[in-house]
Amino acid sequence: MTAYRVYRRIYVIGGRELTYPLDSNIYLVRLNDTAIIADTGTGEGWEATLRNILEVGVEPRLISRIMITHCHVNNAGGAERLRRITGGVVVAHEPDATIIRRGDQNATLASEYGLKFQPVVIGFSLRRSEFSENLSGAEILYMHTPGHTPGSMSILIEADDIRALFIGDLFGPLSKKWGSSIDAWKRSMETIYGLDFDLMCSGARCVGASEGRSFIEKALEAGPIWV
Ligand SMILES: [Zn+2]
Repeated sequence: MTAYRVYRRIYVIGGRELTYPLDSNIYLVRLNDTAIIADTGTGEGWEATLRNILEVGVEPRLISRIMITHCHVNNAGGAERLRRITGGVVVAHEPDATIIRRGDQNATLASEYGLKFQPVVIGFSLRRSEFSENLSGAEILYMHTPGHTPGSMSILIEADDIRALFIGDLFGPLSKKWGSSIDAWKRSMETIYGLDFDLMCSGARCVGASEGRSFIEKALEAGPIWV
């Protein structure tokens, strides 16, 4: 399977069928004169990821942000390799940012999966509940959405033709092992529900706004899955 366009300026350049079986989806968002990557997979499939960046017609050096939704190796493991190749600035939220920076093999779940987590040079380590920046004509809103992990982050990218939301594993399971919190999870779900978006992309796939909202309603009703 090769890279594909989800909708307008949003592409999938990595994932379990594209780059490595344990990879979360790796998204690329093209902006006017730059591009953004949201999550990086484990890094095991980095050569395929790089090929896919080129395949969708983006010069790797034009990538200016590598956004990490949380510290798990499936999402963050490829960040350092991609940072070195592209020069993009890695953005993550505390306390997950510290785990990624240290390359904590346990908290990233790398040792559990038999992988090695490469410590990441973080450019922006966020601590506030919200932070926004304007990048190449798009408004980027970084939001602290803990629950799955204490430092999980969601990102809303508002360009002239789309509002795309990246939520990582917000729908993923909770576990005491990685510090999940059900109260934080509920609050984060409600925050996301209240946003205006056209597309909602998780580690597994993208859905439209109405399907996204109905997922949130069902998840809040059923409660999270604990592992
Ligand atoms: Zn996760």
